Amino acid sequence: MSDKKKKLNLNRVSMPKQLLEERKHNFQEVALGYSEEQAIEEAKRCLQCKKPRCMAGCPVELDIPKFIKAIQDGKMWEAVRIIKSKNSLPGICGRVCPQEVQCECKCVLNKKDAPIAIGRLERFVADWEARQKDRPSPEVLPPTGKKVAVVGSGPAGLTCASDLARMGNQVTVFEALHEAGGVLVYGIPEFRLPKDIVKSEVEYVKSLGAELELNSVVGRLVQVDELLKMGYDAIFLGIGAGAPRFLNVPGENLNGVYSANEYLTRVNLMKAYKFPEYDTPIRQGSKVAVVGGGNVTMDAARSAIRLGADEVHVIYRRSELEMPARLEESENAKEEGVIFDFLTNPTRFIADDRGRVKAMEVVTMELGKPDESGRRRPVVKEGSEHIIEMDTIIIAVGTMPNPLVPTNTPGLETTRWGTLVADENGRTTMEGVWAGGDITSGGATVISAMGSARRASADIDTWLKEKGPWNC
Ligand code: FAD
Ligand code: SF4
Repeated sequence: MSDKKKKLNLNRVSMPKQLLEERKHNFQEVALGYSEEQAIEEAKRCLQCKKPRCMAGCPVELDIPKFIKAIQDGKMWEAVRIIKSKNSLPGICGRVCPQEVQCECKCVLNKKDAPIAIGRLERFVADWEARQKDRPSPEVLPPTGKKVAVVGSGPAGLTCASDLARMGNQVTVFEALHEAGGVLVYGIPEFRLPKDIVKSEVEYVKSLGAELELNSVVGRLVQVDELLKMGYDAIFLGIGAGAPRFLNVPGENLNGVYSANEYLTRVNLMKAYKFPEYDTPIRQGSKVAVVGGGNVTMDAARSAIRLGADEVHVIYRRSELEMPARLEESENAKEEGVIFDFLTNPTRFIADDRGRVKAMEVVTMELGKPDESGRRRPVVKEGSEHIIEMDTIIIAVGTMPNPLVPTNTPGLETTRWGTLVADENGRTTMEGVWAGGDITSGGATVISAMGSARRASADIDTWLKEKGPWNC
């Protein structure tokens, strides 16, 4: 039957969620995932277009119609095989990718406001596989005899490591922290991305043969050029952009003012939400303000709700229309009681007599002409200063690269934003060294980090093949 003749089913199968009153008080996952019946029902809405547009929206080029067809036919192992041939982290991507602006926005049914729930189906397949007792061993090509060092175990590092290991290279991943996963473990909270999912997908990467060296800070314990001298034929830098940005307003160093990075790392990686089982202190806060408008802001605000704050405000200098957070996340935040103060910007933080933050001065903003980002520029409304009482402030206005590796690696050029200079395949200005993910793009998304790592791994593999001993 042709695509046009096929009857359109515009009833997207909705995803069951944890009950609102319960989820506000725990850190368990909010979205519960499709059952097998629900996944098949949703998959059957796919038209199996002859010229599918959805694939063009996927940075790792997943064969979307093919894996959805496998679900339609109840062939779940086939769906696993198709997905894993392109994506080693499907349980993660199915949960956190902004599908609404990627594959799903390209789906033909998006015109009718009912795109196929591609992300939810990807998540279903990953979770289905995780429940199976006997999983086939992944296919790996014979050893090439080449050694590659991957620095950083976020989505970029894990993708590059799995691709290169699958191609038969000996891969070692050096990770500064005591757990692998990058932002997936220290930034994105459990209620959005359970850490067991990250652990299981890291285990999959290890099952391909990649080795993991935790607590290994490259640029301090060992330098990039030393890795090359130690016998690594190529290096991939997937070190992210994890240094917090601040507002640079008076009072930002007061007690009770956190960067979102510190706040979320305490909550997620250091498990402050399980205090006293985990000995990580965090300020619970009675009136909490989170400054920013992205996913990080929503994660911090929703964490504060769960830690028991009485009132949590998102302070955003533009209007709701410009807010970069995923719609699903800002809606979840609203449902959970987060209050949004749009067109508002802090100008200073005010201390009590013990040096702890007790209030902030804010100004009201108006939207002017579009700036270089295309969004309307916020402009201060004259005489609009006013004070809002708050006892905990979380600054979530973006991140930038940590300069440790570039400053210790002569030959690695950086841009004026501190990101590494690299071509479209991730080749840096240093022979034998590639980079990808947030360290080249600046703070972006999980799947864009994975896409750039995929292009780099293909280029590294070709380069390694050409660089045989006869070429050295
Ligand atoms: P990272 O994930 O930052 O990983 C870099 C790794 O390198 C880290 O493990 C770090 O410890 C390690 N490292 C750094 N320096 C060194 C060194 N010198 N030696 C050894 N190891 C080093 N994106 C989405 O798509 N959807 C979302 O919902 C989403 N939510 C987010 C929520 C939060 C709170 C944050 C902070 C980000 C979010 N993002 C989201 C963005 C996304 O997580 C990042 O774009 C992505 O993780 C970038 O991947 P990466 O591998 O480049 O870097
Ligand atoms: Fe077509 Fe959408 Fe199915 Fe892709 S997901 S094949 S665009 S109906």
